[in-house]
Amino acid sequence: TTPTDYELIGKMEMLPVYQPRQKFSNKGSYGHALIVGGSYGKIGAVTLASRAALAAGVGLVTAYVPKCGYTPLQASFPEAMVLTDANEEILTNIEFSIQPNVIAFGVGVGTEEKTITAFENFLKTNTTPLVVDADGINILAKKKELLKLLPEQTVLTPHPKELERLIGKWDGDFDKLEKTKALSKKYNLVIVIKGANTITVYQDKGYVNTTGNPGLATAGTGDVLTGIITGLIAQGYEPLVAALFAIYLHGKSADIAVEDLGYQSLIASHVIETLGEVYIDLF
Ligand code: AMP
Ligand code: MG
Repeated sequence: TTPTDYELIGKMEMLPVYQPRQKFSNKGSYGHALIVGGSYGKIGAVTLASRAALAAGVGLVTAYVPKCGYTPLQASFPEAMVLTDANEEILTNIEFSIQPNVIAFGVGVGTEEKTITAFENFLKTNTTPLVVDADGINILAKKKELLKLLPEQTVLTPHPKELERLIGKWDGDFDKLEKTKALSKKYNLVIVIKGANTITVYQDKGYVNTTGNPGLATAGTGDVLTGIITGLIAQGYEPLVAALFAIYLHGKSADIAVEDLGYQSLIASHVIETLGEVYIDLF
C-alpha cells in the first residue's frame, strides 16, 4: 500500500481557489444545479440542499421530487424551480428536458426498489457531473454494480454508517483510509468521509478539513453540505476542489453561527444563512 499523503485545508489553502463574482455576469454565468431526491416526509432534505446550492452562489436551482414535494417546495422556497415525478410519494423515473451542469442525487430519496431502478436507468444515459449523498449512497452500497456507471470524479459524501455500508467494516483509521482510497481509485471517485474532522479522499491523497464544530451534529447539515458542493460544481469548480471548498465553507459557517446560537441550538438552516459571512471573510 502507498502511504497516504495528507494536506490540511483552511483559509490559506482555499483563498487561491476561490472564484469571486464578476461585475459583467448574469445568473447564466453561475450554472444550473439539479437536486434530485425526496420522498413523503423527507422533502425538507431537498429544500435544504437546494437553498444551500443557491447560497453557495449557483445561478439557478431546480429540484426534482415526487409529486408530494411540489407544493411545499414552491410555497416555502420561491427561488427554486420544481420538476416532479409521476409518483406521489417516491421517485420512480428520473427524466427531464433541462440541461443542468451538475446533478445531486440522494437526499431524502429512500431505497424503494422502484427508486433504485429509476436511479439505475438514469445512470445508464447520464453524462452530467454527479454528487451522490445519503440514500443515494445506500443504493450504491446495496447494488455495487451501479458504481461503474458513475461519471468520472463523482463526489460521494458518506457519514460513518453510509461509509460502512459502502466499504464494509474497518479495523482502525488506517484501514478505513486504505479501503476508501481503494474505492476512490477503482471508480475514480472523490469520497468525503464526514465527521468531526472531515477527510476527503481522492486516489492516494487525503485532505483534512480544519473548520466545523459539534453544533453540526444535527439533522440536515449533511443535506446542506451536498447543496454547497453541488452549487460550487455548477459554478465551474472541479469536483475535488468543490468538495474541499464546500467542506471549508460549511464548517466555517457553523463556527460563525455558534458564536451567536451556541452548539445545541444551531440547526441546519442557520448554516445556510451564515454562509455569506464566510464568503465576505474571503474578500
Ligand atoms: P449527515 O450525517 O449526513 O447529516 O452530515 C452531518 C454533517 O455535519 C457532516 O458535514 C459532518 O462532517 C458534520 N458533523 C457532524 N458531527 C460533527 C462534529 N462533531 N464536528 C464537526 N462536524 C460534524
Ligand atoms: Mg446525511
